[in-house]
Amino acid sequence: MRVILNPKHAEHAPPGEVEGGAVIPSYESPGRFDAIRAALEAAGGFTFEEPPKPSEEPVAAIHDAAYITYLREASAEAKKARDPAAKQLWPTVFPFGPNPRASGVRALRGQFCFDTYTPILPGTFAAALGGANAAARSADLIAEGTERSIYVLTRPPGHHAEADRCGGYCYFNNAAIAADRLSKRGRVAVLDVDVHHGNGTQHIFYSRADVSTVSIHGDPGGLYPFFSGFAEETGTGAGEGFNLNLPLPPGTAAKDYRSALATALEAIRKFKPMFLVLSFGADTHESDPIGGFKLPTKFFAEMGAAVRELDFPTAIIQEGGYNLTTLGSCVTEMLKAFT
Ligand SMILES: [Zn+2]
Repeated sequence: MRVILNPKHAEHAPPGEVEGGAVIPSYESPGRFDAIRAALEAAGGFTFEEPPKPSEEPVAAIHDAAYITYLREASAEAKKARDPAAKQLWPTVFPFGPNPRASGVRALRGQFCFDTYTPILPGTFAAALGGANAAARSADLIAEGTERSIYVLTRPPGHHAEADRCGGYCYFNNAAIAADRLSKRGRVAVLDVDVHHGNGTQHIFYSRADVSTVSIHGDPGGLYPFFSGFAEETGTGAGEGFNLNLPLPPGTAAKDYRSALATALEAIRKFKPMFLVLSFGADTHESDPIGGFKLPTKFFAEMGAAVRELDFPTAIIQEGGYNLTTLGSCVTEMLKAFT
């Protein structure tokens, strides 16, 4: 199986994240990429390649121009800064009131971000752009029929990124970029199996009938991102009926997950897409430090086989998964089903 790498991922290495007012070590680290790559190399059967020279064209299809400009300029500003504190841009105040108006750099940090887990660092723009281009490349290879399934090894992840905001460790929505690109050729289903709801992906396609979004995740009543991912969110306008959320309680184990997965796959079959994008997070694993589900490593092979059985050309995009000891095995088990 061909693996498209994000060669710039390590340029984004957050020194920490802010949780409840305290700085804690960042779960989303370059070590995640290295752990997955090492596991795939050890397993064999995977070839690794970089996408062509990155451009902003893939992100411009999905993200607002003002947000792209902000991310590019904020990263450049952090790079130029001599004061170490100014090399990390964190939001402190978020928009409120009926007509929030932002001017000035500190206001923009809150306008273009929705949480305190997602700082902008000198290399953030380059790393996020590298992932977006890797996702675009995977979509192009699938669209041309060159590959039946392909995997994008990247970080930071993408599915929380909104059209005009970063959040949840995500800056550009890699899965949405791949899905939108594929949608030029035919209908696309996005299946998101990260333990956290992919709010960005849902919102980007919420009013579209040509891209169906299906997500299995922890109940947002108790799990990030809290404000999106409930079962009653089904789409709007032309997109009504094309968004399916399957929230599950904390502690969900293989039996209940299997049943939700069957529901998700049935909905995708009924939609009859030409292509599938799998937003794959391994943070449903029983050992994940921030997930809360109880899936054993061997379940990832079953999950991969079930998705493979749909038999659609599939772009698999890496999202979360934060236990560096088990992450590589989960990804490998899942991907082996496609090889
Ligand atoms: Zn996640």
